[in-house]
Amino acid sequence: MKVTVISERCPQNHYCPVIRVCPNNAIEQTSPYSAPNINSSNCTDCGLCTNYCAYGAIKMT
Ligand code: SF4
Repeated sequence: MKVTVISERCPQNHYCPVIRVCPNNAIEQTSPYSAPNINSSNCTDCGLCTNYCAYGAIKMT
Protein backbone atom coordinates (compact mmCIF):
# COMPACT_ATOMS: atom_id res chain seq x y z
CA MET A 1 0.00 0.00 0.00
CA LYS A 2 1.23 3.43 -0.96
CA VAL A 3 -0.14 6.93 -0.40
CA THR A 4 -1.26 8.62 -3.61
CA VAL A 5 -2.66 12.06 -4.37
CA ILE A 6 -5.60 11.96 -6.79
CA SER A 7 -5.17 15.45 -8.21
CA GLU A 8 -8.47 15.29 -10.12
CA ARG A 9 -10.30 15.25 -6.78
CA CYS A 10 -8.45 18.29 -5.43
CA PRO A 11 -10.08 21.64 -6.31
CA GLN A 12 -6.59 23.19 -6.22
CA ASN A 13 -7.86 26.47 -4.84
CA HIS A 14 -6.66 26.48 -1.23
CA TYR A 15 -3.75 25.88 1.10
CA CYS A 16 -3.73 22.13 1.78
CA PRO A 17 -4.67 21.65 5.46
CA VAL A 18 -3.38 18.09 5.39
CA ILE A 19 0.21 19.34 5.21
CA ARG A 20 0.09 20.08 8.95
CA VAL A 21 -1.15 16.58 9.76
CA CYS A 22 1.88 14.70 8.46
CA PRO A 23 4.36 13.87 11.23
CA ASN A 24 7.18 13.50 8.69
CA ASN A 25 6.79 16.69 6.62
CA ALA A 26 6.19 14.52 3.60
CA ILE A 27 3.38 16.59 2.04
CA GLU A 28 4.31 19.57 -0.09
CA GLN A 29 2.62 22.12 -2.33
CA THR A 30 4.58 23.74 -5.12
CA SER A 31 2.21 26.73 -5.01
CA PRO A 32 -0.47 27.76 -2.48
CA TYR A 33 -3.20 26.44 -4.77
CA SER A 34 -1.68 23.34 -6.30
CA ALA A 35 -2.60 19.77 -5.44
CA PRO A 36 -0.18 18.45 -2.82
CA ASN A 37 2.67 16.08 -3.60
CA ILE A 38 3.91 13.26 -1.41
CA ASN A 39 7.66 13.27 -0.88
CA SER A 40 8.35 9.56 -0.98
CA SER A 41 11.72 10.00 0.71
CA ASN A 42 9.98 11.19 3.88
CA CYS A 43 6.68 9.30 3.68
CA THR A 44 6.37 6.15 5.76
CA ASP A 45 2.93 5.26 4.28
CA CYS A 46 1.41 5.51 7.75
CA GLY A 47 -1.91 6.53 6.20
CA LEU A 48 -2.69 9.29 8.68
CA CYS A 49 -3.18 11.92 5.98
CA THR A 50 -5.81 9.88 4.16
CA ASN A 51 -8.32 10.61 6.94
CA TYR A 52 -8.07 14.38 6.65
CA CYS A 53 -8.67 15.44 3.06
CA ALA A 54 -12.31 16.54 2.79
CA TYR A 55 -12.29 15.73 -0.92
CA GLY A 56 -10.84 12.24 -0.59
CA ALA A 57 -7.88 13.29 -2.71
CA ILE A 58 -5.30 11.39 -0.66
CA LYS A 59 -5.72 7.64 -0.70
CA MET A 60 -3.86 4.45 0.08
CA THR A 61 -3.59 2.52 -3.17
S1 SF4 B 1 1.21 8.50 4.88
FE1 SF4 B 1 1.95 9.38 6.83
S2 SF4 B 1 4.09 9.93 6.43
FE2 SF4 B 1 3.10 9.65 4.42
S3 SF4 B 1 2.38 11.69 3.80
FE3 SF4 B 1 0.67 10.70 4.87
S4 SF4 B 1 0.86 11.34 7.03
FE4 SF4 B 1 2.85 11.77 6.01
